[in-house]
Amino acid sequence: MARLEKTNKHTVESNSPTKEELELINSYTRREYTQQELYTFSVVLCDNDIDRDYEAFSVNALKQMASLFVGKTGISDHNPTAQNQTARIYSCNVEYVQGRKTLYGEPYCKLTAKAYIPILQSTQETIQLIESGIKKEVSVGCSADRVLCSVCGADVHTAQCGHYKGKQNGDICYHIIDNVTDAYEWSFVAVPSQKNAGVIKSYYKEGNMSNIIEEVKKGNYSVINNGNANEIGEYIKELQQLAEYGAQYRKELEDEYVRFSSLCLDCSSSVLRSVAKKLNIQELAQLKTLYKSAVEGGSFLKPQLVKSEAVPTANDRQYNI
Ligand SMILES: [Zn+2]
Repeated sequence: MARLEKTNKHTVESNSPTKEELELINSYTRREYTQQELYTFSVVLCDNDIDRDYEAFSVNALKQMASLFVGKTGISDHNPTAQNQTARIYSCNVEYVQGRKTLYGEPYCKLTAKAYIPILQSTQETIQLIESGIKKEVSVGCSADRVLCSVCGADVHTAQCGHYKGKQNGDICYHIIDNVTDAYEWSFVAVPSQKNAGVIKSYYKEGNMSNIIEEVKKGNYSVINNGNANEIGEYIKELQQLAEYGAQYRKELEDEYVRFSSLCLDCSSSVLRSVAKKLNIQELAQLKTLYKSAVEGGSFLKPQLVKSEAVPTANDRQYNI
């Protein structure tokens, strides 16, 4: 199951709710709201064209989302705190745009949502930001369990078809997000439009990423392209995070090894520290455990700690620099 987040740069249009819309909205509210108490706007959530990740929703997927997004509250910048959940979608439709085609030559259509915000002191700012056009990019999050290769139709989750997104080989390869099973959020994203134009965060499918890594290991760097650059970027960020944890763990092991071994060995901390640097992680962990249990068992303390007033010898001085 792939989780997706897609950003759309279409502008938001605001309008006053019709009588029918007001009825729909009031089916979501605890009390009846009047027209004057509500701010409504429509927003394009996504479309069926190829995006920057070389992915496109199928019309089927857009229709699925049209029913899944109704009733969902919108959040700001993917931050789902209660105060951020100000707008709720009360209707959602797939609309064809006359005469417009997608990059792959099919009729273009978009998923348009209508949402409302109760006009309150606390929502004034959000409404102002929408009105002024600052909050105009919307990102959607959803899950899909069928993503197809545009070249051969293989399900990219289950099959390794050898086609890679963004690769041009006659027809460009893109992934068709076809079966959307859940729509879990929609969000205003307050990013400057020139930065990340269109996409804030891509998702990566583990299967797909491991294929890419295998190819790269073989020296086949041509699998890296615009279509998966975002996924690879996200993956690298994740690896860097893990590497940081790893480095932190190693540092803690080294510190403990030096601390416990210095209580057991007649050896300076600086020597033990440089020994620690040369040990691999398993050796460090084993030796740390050994010295730790020796210290805790009191069986392996170095003589200086036992003798209370030891006179330093020439030998000791050597280590006491
Ligand atoms: Zn394929």
